[in-house]
Amino acid sequence: MIEDDIASVLMCHDDIALTAHVSPDGDSIGSMLGLYSFLKSISKSVDAYSSDPPPEVFSFLPGYGAIKRSCDTISKKYQVLVVLDCGSIDRSGECVCLREQSDMIINIDHHLTNSRFADISLIDSGASSTGELVYRIIKSSGFSITEDVACCLYTAILTDTGNFRYSNTTSLTHRIAGELIDTGIDFGHIYEMIYNNYKYQDIVLMSRAMSSISLYCGGKVAFMYLLQSDLDGLSFEDINTSDYINYARDIGGVEAAAFAKGTAAAEFRVSFRSKNDVDVRAICEKFGGGGHAKAAGCTMKGSLEEVRNLIINELENALKGEKI
Ligand code: 5GP
Ligand code: MN
Repeated sequence: MIEDDIASVLMCHDDIALTAHVSPDGDSIGSMLGLYSFLKSISKSVDAYSSDPPPEVFSFLPGYGAIKRSCDTISKKYQVLVVLDCGSIDRSGECVCLREQSDMIINIDHHLTNSRFADISLIDSGASSTGELVYRIIKSSGFSITEDVACCLYTAILTDTGNFRYSNTTSLTHRIAGELIDTGIDFGHIYEMIYNNYKYQDIVLMSRAMSSISLYCGGKVAFMYLLQSDLDGLSFEDINTSDYINYARDIGGVEAAAFAKGTAAAEFRVSFRSKNDVDVRAICEKFGGGGHAKAAGCTMKGSLEEVRNLIINELENALKGEKI
């Protein structure tokens, strides 16, 4: 099994670098720090890197403070680079430079969009999260899962399954979560740290995003946006916008929702969510992005008007192709 191969490679090498995707979420940070804590616990020399600042909401995770930010300071050579929760090496942002400094690349991912860029890959789009795949690798290694590792992997699974609600959640996901809980983690506290811990400004800006929601296609499509000018001088990195789009998706009758964040002049980071049959990954791939069938993202160029029209048009066409 590929899990055994990856476990053996990690056992046989020292000097390991880890990285995950830009705009990191709970799965990319949780799976990376879970693997980080595991490798540390077996005395490996390991560094964890993130191109973008890891969201503060995950600062309770063991190892969070050790995440290195900039590739500028890297002078080290690594035997192995593990790229987590990324379907392409470019998704690691500035950390793409680690490729040149590493002898071998391992990719652990669960996205449908995957360019097979690594020397060894564990790609399973049926897995709930990359955290679940890291769990499988650690199990293959024969070592037991520590509380620190469990805290990170539970966070990865919790966030990528929308608290065990999305269709990527299986009985195996619950069994793994149960095993992680058995290590002694306080799962109630983990939930609280992530979901009962918004900053006032997160909620103020959420209200602005909510009031931008418009419905299209007979109520089957919801579109929302935030512009740089809405942020009261903050940047998108300072606020936790990850759940905003769920409110647009969760409107009764809505099949797909899009949330456009104006990140620069005439450039938008767009998150897509779908409830049932619309494959938003296929739409995002057309614009150079990707992800999962029901959760995907891309960057789009143009004015708000142009980007909105493009998105509505794509979703309208996708709806026509679906039996809803
Ligand atoms: P989010 O909307 O939360 O940023 O992303 C939803 C899902 O789509 C995540 O699994 C994320 O990794 C993936 N995703 C978001 N943006 C991109 C992108 O530009 N390219 C690719 N390949 N995947 C993306
Ligand atoms: Mn993920």
